[in-house]
Amino acid sequence: MSSLEFSQQAMAHLRADTPGVSQVIHLNNAGAALMPEVVGNAVLKYIRHEMKYGGYETAEKFRSKIDLAYDHIAHYLSCSPSEIAICENATTAWDQAFLSIPLESKDEILCSAAEYASNYIPFLQLAKRTGVQIRTIPNNEYGQVDINALERLINDRVKLIAITHVPTNGGLVNPACKIGQIAKRHQVWYLLDACQSVGQMPLNVREIGCDFLSATSRKYLRGPRGVGFLFARQETTGSLEPIILDLHAASWKSEQEYEIRADARKYENWETNLSGVVGLGAAVGYMLDIGIDRIWARIQLLADYLRSRLSTVPGVRVHDLGKTKCGIVSFSSPRDALELKKLLNEGSINVSVIHPSHTLIDMQSRGLGHLIRASVHYYNTEEEIDTFIEYLKHVV
Ligand SMILES: *Cc1c(COP(=O)(O)O)cnc(C)c1O
Repeated sequence: MSSLEFSQQAMAHLRADTPGVSQVIHLNNAGAALMPEVVGNAVLKYIRHEMKYGGYETAEKFRSKIDLAYDHIAHYLSCSPSEIAICENATTAWDQAFLSIPLESKDEILCSAAEYASNYIPFLQLAKRTGVQIRTIPNNEYGQVDINALERLINDRVKLIAITHVPTNGGLVNPACKIGQIAKRHQVWYLLDACQSVGQMPLNVREIGCDFLSATSRKYLRGPRGVGFLFARQETTGSLEPIILDLHAASWKSEQEYEIRADARKYENWETNLSGVVGLGAAVGYMLDIGIDRIWARIQLLADYLRSRLSTVPGVRVHDLGKTKCGIVSFSSPRDALELKKLLNEGSINVSVIHPSHTLIDMQSRGLGHLIRASVHYYNTEEEIDTFIEYLKHVV
């Protein structure tokens, strides 16, 4: 057994830590993964304390637990805790970063073909308001961002490369580090949406070279809902001005002056879901204890297994692109996806439906309608996948 494999005993422990696995076969980890007991308990403990002692008083009491969330995230990403902001969700984190980048009419934004709707809509909004131009980087033969095409698109007007690391609608992993080298060479801002890659694979912001990275708690990190975070590189983003500034992000100095705080928390608001922050901290700590290299190895193994099993089901087609593939598996079948999801749910199997409008450019270019997304995590098992396949054969 390689050091990356989980022993049977380790798997039994991990599954015992996850109450949900006795209820459902959870293949919706890209939607919201099952929380381990320690994460749910951290949130509940915080809320119970709030009920008894009050919200502000609880925040003071739990200060070190709140700080730990920043420390754990920074440890995972190889940055400083002062380069982390914790926000309500990944979208807010991403928007705060995006809207703080100085962009003007005729400046160009380069994005990936599988860009997420909540990123692309703000591009369009800014384009309407300021006249910035949006350009999609073509994919290579693997269906992922083509590095050479990206290099060719760079010119003096390109100010931002905004990429989704792992798209919401399939298993590909975009070459984040290679994109970072190009961004650096041409001195272009680099914003990475790592919502689906965080918690799935090792991420090192020094190696990636991004100025910003946004992510959410509830997906592969297995944290609670309603919380996300932003990495903002101190050297490059230190002088940027977020568009939303409150008394936490800035201080009011005089009738004519305010001063923005020096760390990444300038991207936060004062009021936030602190039980969620504590839960996120517990989730990242739990992940660090298990080891992200092992997690990533097992996710890839299980996803490969799922793809190969799916290919044996008559009428089913797997649609994942990319050279390196991750835990997100997308497929079509002769049955309507929404209806199939419902049937699977009735059999206690959780999957989600991929909506074409959520990654419009990619889905349209491939002529795809609604698909099923089955996303595996390390706590899933081959037996669960087998059960899923049998059920699928039965209903398809
Ligand atoms: C889920 C997702 C988001 C949005 O995350 P929220 O926490 O819901 O704001 C952004 N980008 C991608 C690729 C996602 O999958």
